[in-house]
Amino acid sequence: MLQYDLHCHSTRSDGLLSPADVVRRAAARGVDVLALTDHDELAGLAEARAAAQAAGIGFVDGCELSVTWNTETVHVIGLRIDPDNAALGEGLATVRSGRDARARRIGDALEQAGIPDAFDGASGFVTSPRLISRTHFARYLIESGYVRDMKEAFKRYLTSGKPGYVPHAWASLTEVVGWIHGAGGQAVIAHPGRYKLSPAELRSLIGEFRDLGGDALEVVSPSHTAAQFNEFAALARAHGLKVSCGSDFHGVGESRLDFGDLPPLPAGSEPVWAAW
Ligand code: AMP
Ligand code: MN
Ligand code: MN
Ligand code: MN
Repeated sequence: MLQYDLHCHSTRSDGLLSPADVVRRAAARGVDVLALTDHDELAGLAEARAAAQAAGIGFVDGCELSVTWNTETVHVIGLRIDPDNAALGEGLATVRSGRDARARRIGDALEQAGIPDAFDGASGFVTSPRLISRTHFARYLIESGYVRDMKEAFKRYLTSGKPGYVPHAWASLTEVVGWIHGAGGQAVIAHPGRYKLSPAELRSLIGEFRDLGGDALEVVSPSHTAAQFNEFAALARAHGLKVSCGSDFHGVGESRLDFGDLPPLPAGSEPVWAAW
């Protein structure tokens, strides 16, 4: 059976490896088909695709798009999108453009909390001039000794209600599903277990996504427990959605799952790649 990994990041967003190194690591660890899904960014796809060809593995053009749904940030993955699609490219440029001002506000908020120079510090970890994220702030907080690891950085400073959290309006669910489909791709709700939504709100999100023509739910993810794999597979089936899986790999030492370590999809679920 082919090993699919349809969610990971490179230095073009908040990952630690270049697109080519991401692909080489995935191939060396037994992944047969890989999607690179940088946050709000397509710039790594050409390099990754060439590396996949050289390594002899399958490659899927992907992206992880930031969405604001009912004040909650939700991530939607686009798979098999055309990286040259103009509307998608322009939409992503707009989404990215809010990140710099947001990062300055995160820096100010952390300063208020007694952590000076965090904007400059985080900027030192940025690997693409086009994209700064909370992950870069987390790496600075770790390096400066404020926290021990990523988990603590987010838990103490960077999530909703914490001193370094700044609310931000990303794209709408409708826009993002439209961009993905307009670019010939499939839309997948990433790590549904991560959102601070009640079970009723989650069903409402998934129902709205399905009504917009959304394609799949990411079921197997390091953000989920084994029980949640089955729970979300059942939820996908109940809504007529397919299922997906991905390591959400960002780098060695930072990610709970490395390439090649993904558990299989729950039996009886229809994978998003069924018709590929
Ligand atoms: P941003 O797009 O700037 O809001 O940053 C979101 C990124 O932060 C995610 O893609 C993850 O890489 C990272 N992240 C968010 N929450 C956590 C967490 N609790 N632990 C570790 N990383 C996280
Ligand atoms: Mn990330
Ligand atoms: Mn995500
Ligand atoms: Mn991700």
